[in-house]
Amino acid sequence: MTATVDVLTNGYAHDRVASSVILVRENDTIIVVDPGMVASRDLILEPLHSLGVHENEVTDVIFSHHHPDHTLNAALFLNARYHDVWAIYLADDWGDRTDVIEGAPSVSLLDTPGHTHEDISTLIQTGVGLVVCTHLWWSVQGPEIDPRAVDQGLLEASRAAVLALRPVLIIPGHGPAFSPHELDQ
Ligand SMILES: [Zn+2]
Ligand SMILES: [Zn+2]
Repeated sequence: MTATVDVLTNGYAHDRVASSVILVRENDTIIVVDPGMVASRDLILEPLHSLGVHENEVTDVIFSHHHPDHTLNAALFLNARYHDVWAIYLADDWGDRTDVIEGAPSVSLLDTPGHTHEDISTLIQTGVGLVVCTHLWWSVQGPEIDPRAVDQGLLEASRAAVLALRPVLIIPGHGPAFSPHELDQ
């Protein structure tokens, strides 16, 4: 069993900032990762609709961490459960954190602190291998030293832990997806 991954919007961080927003689907489970800042909400909704998904059908939202650039548009998804490093939130229920997403056995959450102490990465087993959505890298270009990291040493340990899983693709917080090999170049 595997899941599919589609990038709805590629993030960037220069004079303006936008989050990479990602759609993950497995069976009836429809997940959006990091519905954060974008120049226009259409940059989330139009690609979603093109893929045949209505925002009210999204079952789960995952926050890589708590910064507004990755959370600002969370309320677009009226029927979703919300996952972060601490818990699962639905309406007024603050439930227990789980590393798995109900209905999506190919998707799991991994604690990857460093940028903040509350960072998680989303691990997705796809037909071509492991894909990881993570803020451990802003983009393939770096920055190598995260100027906003609360703990650069922890960040580097988390990067190593993710690379040790041998992902085929990394979808960073503020850039297009890249292959880990591109980091060596
Ligand atoms: Zn951040
Ligand atoms: Zn960010």
